[in-house]
Formats: sequence, C-alpha cells, structure tokens
Amino acid sequence: MIPDFSKTNGLIPVVIQDSSSQQVLMLGYMNEEAYSKTLAEKKVTFFSRSKNRLWTKGETSGNFLHVKDVHLDCDNDSLLILAKADGPTCHTGSVSCFNTKSSRSFLYELEQTIHQRIDEDVETSYTNKLYKRGINKVAQKVGEEAVELVIEAKDNNPELFKNEAADLLYHYLILLKAKGFKLKEIEDVLEERG
Ligand code: AMP
Ligand code: ZN
Ligand code: ZN
Ligand code: ZN
Repeated sequence: MIPDFSKTNGLIPVVIQDSSSQQVLMLGYMNEEAYSKTLAEKKVTFFSRSKNRLWTKGETSGNFLHVKDVHLDCDNDSLLILAKADGPTCHTGSVSCFNTKSSRSFLYELEQTIHQRIDEDVETSYTNKLYKRGINKVAQKVGEEAVELVIEAKDNNPELFKNEAADLLYHYLILLKAKGFKLKEIEDVLEERG
C-alpha cells in the first residue's frame, strides 16, 4: 500500500514514534518525494512547510530518525513511522516535541535504562552488577521478589505491596534482558492471546 497524497493537497501528516521507548517524538508532513526518499534511505525526510523544501530530520543536528517500521492509517492519508533516534528529536533539545507524560511509556524507558547500564558496563550500577552474576542469580532474584509480593498480598500494607510489585517488575525486566528478550515481545504474546 502507498499513501494517497491526492486527498490532502500532496502533503500527509506523519507521526514519529520511538521504536524502543514507544514515545511519540514529533509530527511532520511528507509529500510523495519525501516519502520515497524516506523509504530509500531509511531515514525520515519531511517536506518542511516553513522551509518549503525537503527536510531530512537531523541534516544539521545529526539527530537522524532511522526508520524501523511504517504504518498507514485506515484510509491511507496519514502515516505512523517507528524510528530509532540518534539523539533528541526536538530542536529545543528535548527527546520529544511533546513533553507530556502520556506520550511516553515509563516501563519502556526503564527497559532502555536497564539495557544502557548493562551494555555500557556501568560499574556502579546495581542493575549491571546483578546482571553480571548470571541468569540463574537474576532468575532467583525474580523468584524472591515474587515471594515477597505474595507475602505482601496476604498482608494489608498498601505501601509495602506497591514497593514489592515495583521490585518484581524491575527484576523481571533484568531477567528479560538476561534471556535476550524485549518487553515488546512479551507484550506481543499477551496481545496475540486476545
Ligand atoms: P535538524 O533537522 O535536527 O538538523 O534541525 C534543523 C532545523 O530544523 C532546526 O534548526 C529547526 O529549525 C528545525 N527542527 C529540527 N527539529 C525539529 C522538530 N522536531 N520540529 C520542528 N522543527 C525542527
Ligand atoms: Zn486517515
Ligand atoms: Zn520540537
Ligand atoms: Zn522486594
């Protein structure tokens, strides 16, 4: 399927979403040429209404948007592009042009932070230290946190329950990383069950 540029005077709106954090990063417009260039180079190019020319996002800042996936909307006149950003997408230096809590998914951001601590071998990080002790140790921690949560479930202290629930989620994300899975893959399994 290709977008229908004729309906909207040759320009269609394009929502850019971060492919790992799921955060909405920005909105831009594409004409047919911008769209072809985006697909060909796997880097987002808009048609800038203010510059009145093709604009490859990142052309001066270096913060390109690398295309991971492209989705057309229901009636082919707008796009959702999942992209990996080289750096802050907003010209103000913010990660996203939309600085609302609702545009981001904290769990995915936490997952990114966990991966960064491990991939960059941050020596002072508890996450990294635990990870380095191996899968069995990480899995054991998940088991312990689950048991602690079960104990708090039987009790009646909401604060302690919330804390143990948070501990479990956090350690669960480290276990996913240790097993080489992304949170999105688990979400997909749940979603496919319907
Ligand atoms: P860049 O494409 O990141 O090299 O930025 C080039 C110019 O485009 C900046 O100086 C801004 O004027 C504009 N610009 C960059 N990012 C955005 C954005 N997310 N939304 C609107 N304008 C932007
Ligand atoms: Zn539409
Ligand atoms: Zn912006
Ligand atoms: Zn705990």
